[in-house]
Amino acid sequence: MRRAVPIPLIDPFDRRVKDLRISITDRCNFRCTYCMPAEGMKWLPRDEVLTYEEIARIARVCVERFGFEAIRLTGGEPLVRSHIVRLVELLAPLGADLALTTNGVKLPELAHDLVAAGLQRINVSLDSLRRERFLALTRRDELDRVIAGIDAALDAGLAPVKLNTVVIRGVNDDEVAELAGFGRDRGIGVRFIEFMPLDADGQWSTNQVVPAEEILERVHAEYPLVGWPRRLEGHGVEPAQRFAYADGRGDVGVIASVTEPFCESCDRVRVTAEGRFRTCLFAVEEFDLRAILRSGAAPDDLGPDGLGPADSGLAAPDLDDRLADAIAAAVGTKWAGHSIGAADFVRPDRSMSQIGG
Ligand code: SF4
Repeated sequence: MRRAVPIPLIDPFDRRVKDLRISITDRCNFRCTYCMPAEGMKWLPRDEVLTYEEIARIARVCVERFGFEAIRLTGGEPLVRSHIVRLVELLAPLGADLALTTNGVKLPELAHDLVAAGLQRINVSLDSLRRERFLALTRRDELDRVIAGIDAALDAGLAPVKLNTVVIRGVNDDEVAELAGFGRDRGIGVRFIEFMPLDADGQWSTNQVVPAEEILERVHAEYPLVGWPRRLEGHGVEPAQRFAYADGRGDVGVIASVTEPFCESCDRVRVTAEGRFRTCLFAVEEFDLRAILRSGAAPDDLGPDGLGPADSGLAAPDLDDRLADAIAAAVGTKWAGHSIGAADFVRPDRSMSQIGG
């Protein structure tokens, strides 16, 4: 067995990869118009979805072999998968920063258990504070429960709690200041996200994108920002550019994937719910880790909720080595960044709900 001394994983552009985003389900209890059709998507059969043990193994190999420092659980909607507290219990001992992105509607009943299991921080997606618009956007009348979920997250001690807001021109861009105010009132950082070409119906167009500059202008007009309009040169590995409020009441951020890509400092890789390793949100190539994980186990070894055998019958060290080799080889193919807006840009054949944020 090779000694698991963490060796930093460096991609071809000299970026160290150390942040793992894991989609634990493609299913969701919302039907956001910019993400999936009203009838939902063709869901993955349960036995094709990674078990919690398989997810934990991939995460453990990334932490032990490559010194990954952050793990984020995503979906679809991760909180619709049952026993999720069990997964957090499996991941927390790895010692990486453990976060989750959710639509918040199941947080009122789960926030405290997730914290007790070891979850540290959370991002809650909220694109409107207006009930009718929330209903129109998500096709669910759940605004009150989402806000109750945010409050439950704060009450449970998750920190930080952040809000993710996708801004779409002509849809919710007139609420930017309102949402910023909501965050200030609760002491939570709002992250405004430029609309990206990952919608299920492929209708995305640049004229729906509200550039980061304009979003911040609108916030600044209502709540002055420190050092605005000066723009920070580079902003570290965190996707968001952050600006503090001049009155000291927290900060606001923008994730400007379309107008100001930040790929030069990207440290992220992703695993889909069925175990496909992706080196970029917009990757068109994937690497099958599930095949490695299950190269020893028969599908019907898996339980009803994908809770399967602890390992796949292969000698653990060999399996870890093979996973580590596959992950390192995949990262060796990572490109410089997305090319949204360029003639050679190819949309991935997956929507956001099938990749995870
Ligand atoms: S688009 Fe890809 S390379 Fe760029 S920051 Fe996002 S994941 Fe990283």
